[in-house]
Formats: sequence, C-alpha cells, structure tokens
Amino acid sequence: MTPSICVYCGSRDGNSPTYSEASEALGRGIAARGWRLVYGAGDVGLMGRVARTVQAGGGDTFGVIPTHLMQLEVGKRDLTSFVVTETMHERKKVMFMNADAVIVLPGGAGTLDEFFEVLTWRQLGLHEKPIILLNIDGVWDDLIAMLHGIVARGFAEQSLLDFVQTAPDAEAALDLLTFG
Ligand code: AMP
Repeated sequence: MTPSICVYCGSRDGNSPTYSEASEALGRGIAARGWRLVYGAGDVGLMGRVARTVQAGGGDTFGVIPTHLMQLEVGKRDLTSFVVTETMHERKKVMFMNADAVIVLPGGAGTLDEFFEVLTWRQLGLHEKPIILLNIDGVWDDLIAMLHGIVARGFAEQSLLDFVQTAPDAEAALDLLTFG
C-alpha cells in the first residue's frame, strides 16, 4: 500500500510567505517519495497549495469534505479520490482512517481541532500513527509550550509529549517517517 500522509493546515494562507513555501515544499516532498496526500479537499489557503503541489509532482491525492463546506472551501474535485461526507465528524474520521501518519502545517482553530483530536486518540491508545508538528518559523512553539504546561500541572502523563514530534521544515518532517 502507498504510504498516506494526512495533512492538517490552514484554509487560509496566513500572513507570511514562509507558510505557503512550507506547504508547497511538503507537497513536493510527498509526491517525490511516491506517497499519497490525505487532506480536507479544499482548494483554498495552505490546503489548496499542498494539494496542487502534490498533483504537480504526479502524486495521488485523497480529499474528504463535508457537504456544507463544499462552497466555502471550494471543494477540489480533480483529486485522485474525492469523498463528500454528511458531517465534519465523518470527514475527520475518514481522513484519519485512510492515513498512516499526520503532519500539521500552520493553521487556525480547525487545524488545532484536528490535531487535538488525533492526539487524544493516541493518548487513549486508539492508534500509534506518528503526529508531526511542522514547526516552520516556530509557529507551534506556543502549542508545544502549552503541552509541556499540561504535563507540568499534572493533567497528562509525560508520554503525551512523546506522541508529538516536531520538525523545522517539510523535508525534516517527512524524513521522520519510515514505512515498513
Ligand atoms: P483552519 O485551520 O481554521 O483554517 O481550518 C482548517 C481545516 O479545519 C478546514 O478544512 C476546516 O474545514 C476545518 N475546520 C474548521 N473548523 C473546524 C471545526 N470546528 N471542527 C473541525 N474542523 C474544522
């Protein structure tokens, strides 16, 4: 089976070109390795950039979008696989079930929601898929500090920190992944 990388990222570009560059580097890297992109099927912001770059590199794309976001996120219909779900919960489940690892690019509340969902599933022992924060320009420094704070205050085991890997750029993030 082709290794599949679930990418969570902003439906906006953010205010620095660094974020766009990182998302395109990630798309190039996924395609260059012959891996498949799994993502939220939007054609906007960093989401669209990752998908277009994977496509340009000849890679496979698997997108999942709920009906109500089809207009808002401009559902990208020219993906290798395009799945429309009834609800947001179904979308997140289908994305995760079809992925072998998760990489988190810069993003907003939606990206954080997705990250915390798979992190809590990992904490509960429901999966062992790698979760990597692509910490370009230190965008996730506050989040990482917050996770340390949660452990320091006794609200999670130390192991919470082991479930999250960080990488300074796209290639470093992809290099953390090996698939047997
Ligand atoms: P954002 O990081 O807020 O730009 O959102 C990135 C992705 O998360 C987009 O595909 C959104 O549809 C999705 N998203 C936004 N809000 C939520 C939410 N409350 N729950 C789950 N996913 C969301």
